[in-house]
Amino acid sequence: MKIPELFKSGKTVFSFEIFPPKKDGSIETVYNTLDGLSDLHPDFISVTYGAGGTLPGASTREIACIIKEKYHTNSIAHLTCVNSSKADIDRTIEEFKASGIENVLALRGDINPDIPPKKDFMHASDLISYMRERSDLSFSGACYPEGHIESESIDKDIENLKIKVDAGASHLISQLFFDNSAFYRFIQKVRAAGITVPVEAGIMPCVNAKQIQRMVGLCGASLPQKFTKMIARYENNPEAMRSAGIAYAVDQIVDLCSNGVDGIHLYTMNNPAIARKIAESVSSVIRI
Ligand code: FAD
Repeated sequence: MKIPELFKSGKTVFSFEIFPPKKDGSIETVYNTLDGLSDLHPDFISVTYGAGGTLPGASTREIACIIKEKYHTNSIAHLTCVNSSKADIDRTIEEFKASGIENVLALRGDINPDIPPKKDFMHASDLISYMRERSDLSFSGACYPEGHIESESIDKDIENLKIKVDAGASHLISQLFFDNSAFYRFIQKVRAAGITVPVEAGIMPCVNAKQIQRMVGLCGASLPQKFTKMIARYENNPEAMRSAGIAYAVDQIVDLCSNGVDGIHLYTMNNPAIARKIAESVSSVIRI
């Protein structure tokens, strides 16, 4: 199913993100993750693109295909373009067609200072325009409630987001955030800019303080006092940090649902046990 169809009922869409196994990992880890997630009945599962994915049968495309065919769950394959030529993307389109992939999260990808980007696709919007002319795939895009880290301002970033949506992104998934008010301000600006496609809120449970501090360093999410106090108190007690982090994510999700969010996209970090705790806690508020 194409992702925009999921939003037509008006219910809050609930989805998960997973990543392919690392280079030295095993394909079994993907099956373990999917076994643990699929009976939570997410509306879709998206699969990241980049690190890992070099094991036979474990590329982003192959995992997105397994999710659809073996787990009977909708999937999205992430795809970056910063290091791709048009010929690379032509090949990818053919592979997607052969695998029955329907949905793509089209991304520019982060620019690695040691690898000069190729010139064919400067932005995610270029990738969407190019692929849209050559396939009938459905495209999602990334968005940044507190602005993309390279952007001069949130207003400029939303102007660029409009270009991405006009190019054909029919669904957006947000970067993680810990301050719901930042998300609400962002949505107001997005709608005022004439962007009408569904926007899912990206939620990452903070169950490991070091991991979250690294992520926040990369994406620049602001940290409300409630959140920093939680980390300061529990970071050295893994069990307490896990419980507090799950409770914080649940609290964020309930507030977002109360405020009519289009969807919740849970960054599972391939940890089905935590996804289960959260999904079970919010199951009755999310399906309304
Ligand atoms: P773009 O939309 O191209 O935006 C990048 C920057 O360029 C922004 O500052 C924007 O304002 C500006 N810009 C955009 N369009 C224009 C334009 N037409 N003219 C001028 N400026 C413009 N990375 C991975 O490597 N693999 C993944 O699987 C992955 N999954 C992700 C999933 C989500 C939900 C999110 C939020 C991010 C993900 N990323 C992933 C990270 C992403 O690749 C980086 O954030 C990257 O730096 C930007 O990608 P983008 O697609 O948002 O880029």
